[in-house]
Amino acid sequence: MNGPGSVTIVGGGLAGTEAALSLSREGVRVLLLEMRPESQTGAHRTGNLAELVCSNSLKSLDPETAHGLLKEELQAMGSFVLEAAMEARIPGGGALVVDRERFSRHLTARVGADPHITLRRERLDLIPPDRPLILATGPLTHPALTQDLLERIGSDRLSFYDAISPVVEAESLDLSKLFRGDRYGSPGVGDYLNVPLDSEGYRTLVEDLLRGERVPPHEGVEDRPEVLRAFEACQPVESLAESGPETLAYGPMRPVGLVDPGTGRTPHAVVQLRAENREETAFNLVGFQTKLRYSEQDRIFRKLPGFSEAHFLRYGSLHRNTFLDAPRVLGPDLSLLRLPGVYPTGQMVGVEGYTESIALGRLTALYLGPRPPGTLPPATTAVGALLRALVPSAYRPEGEPPGPEETGPFSPVNLHFGLFPPLPSRVRGGKSERRKALVARARRDFASWRESLNADAHPDPARPSRLRPGRG
Ligand SMILES: Cc1cc2nc3c(=O)[nH]c(=O)nc-3n(C[C@H](O)[C@H](O)[C@H](O)COP(=O)(O)OP(=O)(O)OC[C@H]3O[C@@H](n4cnc5c(N)ncnc54)[C@H](O)[C@@H]3O)c2cc1C
Repeated sequence: MNGPGSVTIVGGGLAGTEAALSLSREGVRVLLLEMRPESQTGAHRTGNLAELVCSNSLKSLDPETAHGLLKEELQAMGSFVLEAAMEARIPGGGALVVDRERFSRHLTARVGADPHITLRRERLDLIPPDRPLILATGPLTHPALTQDLLERIGSDRLSFYDAISPVVEAESLDLSKLFRGDRYGSPGVGDYLNVPLDSEGYRTLVEDLLRGERVPPHEGVEDRPEVLRAFEACQPVESLAESGPETLAYGPMRPVGLVDPGTGRTPHAVVQLRAENREETAFNLVGFQTKLRYSEQDRIFRKLPGFSEAHFLRYGSLHRNTFLDAPRVLGPDLSLLRLPGVYPTGQMVGVEGYTESIALGRLTALYLGPRPPGTLPPATTAVGALLRALVPSAYRPEGEPPGPEETGPFSPVNLHFGLFPPLPSRVRGGKSERRKALVARARRDFASWRESLNADAHPDPARPSRLRPGRG
């Protein structure tokens, strides 16, 4: 479909638009295929490129937050979509809140006027033969294309919905109230941290889960029969609780083979916490995918032993989302191992959120452009932390065994400080001082990676076979 030396992009959402404009700036010709307005997704309403489907906030601009840092890095990388968001900014406190119409109309006009980009309104039901090919069809990828992708990469490597359990920062927990151990394993060892509950504590939790306020489903997206059927296979914790007072105690909270060293007894039930990364800076609550409102999750889970000061890095959720099992399907050059020359990007690659999707679009264009950097951004930077979560093997030091990021189940990532490697030494002071130190390290490492870009730039358009992370 497209000529030599050019790139085809399927999907003109946030990531596809960012990738198209970024590649064009480097002189690459782009064919951009977008199915709207003829085919709609259920959440999009217009034919505009880069339409924001729900909230009009791109989250915090405060550089002391992970999202603020990501924006700072994207700005330094010349992100067109972020620039458009800044131009369409409306008052919203410390957040980047935009006039959504102005934002997407501006980007649509910009793409339309770009001499290197051909925009075609066309729906693709099959992966075209064009290479390189960027797939940026997002969380609501058209089902026909999803089916084709499934057949090519394996049905266990693509999901249709997210079932996300809350993730909590390790430092904010009172670990003296928890104990380590695997089910049927010896107490005091194991990969899991267990939050023991007696029958009273268990009953309170179940009542709270049943009474907690829930998020209504997205109309037109989550009320489709195929989505509802998918959700049945991975039920929210509150739905399991509805099916009987002891269902959870026999299900995700079963305490079999676990003895609490504090009491010498098997608790009535346990909440199991699984490490999010090898450094164990963050843990998820296993099996606690939920449709409860964030404020309710905060209120209810803080009642758990050891959780009174808990800082949630992300809350649980359950929604329609097409995404890849990134750590198992992506190569170190961000292409699909099974489909060389095909680069999934944006939300479908396994990130979540507007800004994260824009960042992936920018990074894909950077590595696919005529001057790709020889290294991946350091994991200590915001863009590097995101990439490390997607391709952990590319960041693993030579000779080290794979950590839980590679061996455990994959959930889509949104950026938070729990994804950043811990600081090498303890920082005096509280959370705010630690954050400042993480931000300072990220800025320093991002600046030296950026400086190395020009020196490193790979002059040959043939892609480097194995990228290594930049020095952090
Ligand atoms: C209902 C819903 C609500 C959300 N709310 C928020 C929120 O409030 N805040 C937030 O940060 N994130 C939210 N998200 C996540 C958000 O969608 C993504 O963060 C972001 O839009 C993803 O960007 P993207 O470019 O990957 O995909 P998109 O922006 O969705 O772009 C994908 C594009 O591909 C096109 N396409 C799909 N299939 C084909 C095909 N076969 N052929 C041609 N074109 C195709 C689509 O029409 C679309 O334009 C929400 C997601 C959903 C589904």
